[in-house]
Amino acid sequence: MQSHPELTQHVGRNTLAGVAATGLAASAVAAGLYELVPDAVLLGWGLMQVVCMASRWFTGRALLSHTQADPAWERALRRYVVAMAASGFVWGLASLQAVVYADMQSQLFVLAILLGIVGGAVATVSPVFNAYVAYMGGMMGVQIVAFLIGGGKLGVLMGMLTMLYTVVVFVAGRTLSRTMLDSLALRSALQTAKEEADAANIAKTKFLSSMSHELRTPLNAILGFAQLLQLDRELDDKQRDSTREILLAGDHLLTLINEILDLARIESGQVVLNMEAVPLADLLHECETLARSMADKHGVRVAFATIDPRLNLKTDRLRLKQVLLNLLSNGIKYNRRGGQVSLDCELLPQDRLRITVRDTGNGIPKALQPQLFQAFNRLGKEAGQHEGTGIGLVITRELVQLLGGTLGFESTEGVGSEFWVDLPASPLPA
Ligand code: ADP
Repeated sequence: MQSHPELTQHVGRNTLAGVAATGLAASAVAAGLYELVPDAVLLGWGLMQVVCMASRWFTGRALLSHTQADPAWERALRRYVVAMAASGFVWGLASLQAVVYADMQSQLFVLAILLGIVGGAVATVSPVFNAYVAYMGGMMGVQIVAFLIGGGKLGVLMGMLTMLYTVVVFVAGRTLSRTMLDSLALRSALQTAKEEADAANIAKTKFLSSMSHELRTPLNAILGFAQLLQLDRELDDKQRDSTREILLAGDHLLTLINEILDLARIESGQVVLNMEAVPLADLLHECETLARSMADKHGVRVAFATIDPRLNLKTDRLRLKQVLLNLLSNGIKYNRRGGQVSLDCELLPQDRLRITVRDTGNGIPKALQPQLFQAFNRLGKEAGQHEGTGIGLVITRELVQLLGGTLGFESTEGVGSEFWVDLPASPLPA
């Protein structure tokens, strides 16, 4: 199974814990076998452990300096695998000593220590699977052989149980290693996808903003000449109607271009906010005046709640006005004759202010609500009498987020809709 530099680094970081655990466990084994095993043998085994610990330390720490799968990394990995195989084999020798020089009780004692060590290796070494297999194979292989040749029914039974345990920890180690490799592959795929999406988004924004600039200049000329034509007294009624159509279509196109440009600027983070203390009552008064003149044309009533004149918001005045006018104009456009649009303010806990725009229009069908914030989606209103671009709400939501707030809505078909903006507010003076 292949490995990955990130996994070998992870294992490299565990080297200190692994070597320290080995030192402690080896001392325990030496103490347990002391006086049962000839001193020279035990000493030789101890020295081998020290050499293995040192080579594990050096080869393990060396893994930390490799961040790429290159030949140097492969060499370092190979050295680590060899060190681990040697270390596992020396552990296996501990059980051989117990078989040759001691009794079943000592063999079980050594086994208990080995099982603990293998258990620890599942967590600390198995992400580098070859090293784990080399380590565990050497250790448990010799242990199993030691039990089998140790003789007796108990030896065979213990050998088989140890085999079973070895299979279980092998599977656990493989699962952990695979899971880590899979999640690394997934992460790198996600990273690539995100980079591609970001690059595409930047290209789109650049394209949109340059196109919008290019389109606006000739369009302004068309609109300017159409306005001049309208003033011409020699035009007959038909010509006058045609000129009005040019102006209407041109205005719509200009709105569309401006909104696309605005959205492109917002999405690419080019909007500079001018945050200042804004007296809310003043701002709402301006919005009410503008909304009233639009509402009169649509035969819709406007009702603004009176609000505390001391209420201030730290916000961008122009952008908040844009947000509220957009919600108000939707409330008016998608209303019915004789309907109403109202605006309310309410202080929420933790110094937040909710501004709600309610209308008594046709509402938005439940099935269409998930598409509400999709750019250019007019939810079937394309053929209706009201002009629109389908980007207003997308811009509104982005702006509200830029202002540190959230936008929410609720709508019932046939009853009406309400959109609210929650914003941070300064506490009222006592
Ligand atoms: P536009 O109004 O330019 O079409 P918006 O992004 O502001 O674009 O709105 C998208 C769509 O959501 C509208 O076309 C309309 O179908 C629906 N919509 C928005 N606000 C309301 C509302 N208050 N009542 C009913 N429908 C609404």
